[in-house]
Amino acid sequence: MADCLFCRIVAREIPSSIVFEDDHMVAIKDINPRAPLHVLIIPKRHIATLNDLTSPDDVLVGELVRRAAALAAEHGYAERGFRTVFNTNREAGQSVFHIHLHLLAGRSLTWPPG
Ligand code: AMP
Ligand code: ZN
Repeated sequence: MADCLFCRIVAREIPSSIVFEDDHMVAIKDINPRAPLHVLIIPKRHIATLNDLTSPDDVLVGELVRRAAALAAEHGYAERGFRTVFNTNREAGQSVFHIHLHLLAGRSLTWPPG
């Protein structure tokens, strides 16, 4: 989608700090990190919210989650712990309407989130 920030990042029209890429996803450093490690795992295909997922997307979503765990492990947080979050729509604070999995690690994270 031409006016979607993350589609434009995927297309390299907007620069970002990419930490992983394959055929289906990119993982970038969050521009406003909320933890020492804050990465966004973004599918290359535009999907606006989790409400728009269909069953053929199950493999893709599994790949996003497994990549988050792999990136956490690469950074040494597998045992210490990490948090993975999809925000959906207004009350959850979604601000970019192209799904992305937040990976946060490197500090004690409170529960429940605000
Ligand atoms: P959400 O509020 O769940 O939709 O998350 C959007 C995230 O994208 C926020 O954590 C922002 O800091 C992050 N963000 C916004 N613009 C950029 C950008 N150009 N590069 C990297 N991260 C971004
Ligand atoms: Zn998009």
